Amino acid sequence: MKKNIKLAKHAGFCYGVKRAVETTKKLKAENKDKEIFVLGELIHNSHVINELSALGIHTVDELPENKGCENICVIRSHGAAPEVFENAKQKGYEVVDLTCFDVKKVQQKAIELVQEGFLLIIVGKPEHPEVCAIKANAQTHGEKVLVAPDVDSLKAFEEEIKKHKKIGVVVQTTQRIENLKNVVDYLLPIAKEIKVFNTICASTSLRQNEAKNLAQESDLMIVVGSKKSANTTHLAEILSGITKTIHIETDEELSNYDELIKNAQNIGVTAGASTPDAIIENVINKLNNY
Ligand code: SF4
Repeated sequence: MKKNIKLAKHAGFCYGVKRAVETTKKLKAENKDKEIFVLGELIHNSHVINELSALGIHTVDELPENKGCENICVIRSHGAAPEVFENAKQKGYEVVDLTCFDVKKVQQKAIELVQEGFLLIIVGKPEHPEVCAIKANAQTHGEKVLVAPDVDSLKAFEEEIKKHKKIGVVVQTTQRIENLKNVVDYLLPIAKEIKVFNTICASTSLRQNEAKNLAQESDLMIVVGSKKSANTTHLAEILSGITKTIHIETDEELSNYDELIKNAQNIGVTAGASTPDAIIENVINKLNNY
């Protein structure tokens, strides 16, 4: 019997990633005489990074000295600390800020909370560039900032939390809502005043909800995207609680799961916010040939 393969509607690039990739390519096309440096990977996808590199767009961890002409420094959708902008300007770079508007909103909410005297808790991965940038922006307005990926890690700060009357919470844009709920449930009994901003972006919520629905009617879910991408790994985690789920980066990995795929009748496919359409199409094409 022919397999029923369904691709989620909201699979692949979100608007923030699309804007970052398209604007960076356009910048290079319009500024052929200038060097373009992106601070950190523009998106967590090695295919896109290689494509940018082939166009002469450099991915760097640190900006080289700017000799003579005014080169361009791109700030990716995750955002950056204020000193990163300052340092680029001091080195003579023109700075193009492609921080996603949804990430900017989180930074703004975090700053407001710190300015209003709240102990700020950022729910997210401490080493993730988006979280580092939210923290750095908030800390230019006050030192009271904690970062915790989940409720268990937050419990280590319980004594510190209890010393504060006002607790403010923001969350990394790509987190799971269940994670935020657990943190809030834990904080409610120990906080006197608590202000929570659900800053999970609309694109992430839509993608997760749609994928959950698709998983309910599938024997197998396939999540396509980089293992370094936070939103993609969260998708795989969520779906594996509903049905059999595999997480692959490209179609080449499908052969590792031959038996699972052959035995599945209804297969759902979704992809993270940094997965290009071409990679998703390759997966669908290969599945159709099973
Ligand atoms: S996942 Fe959300 S916050 Fe992140 S770039 Fe995409 S739209 Fe923006």
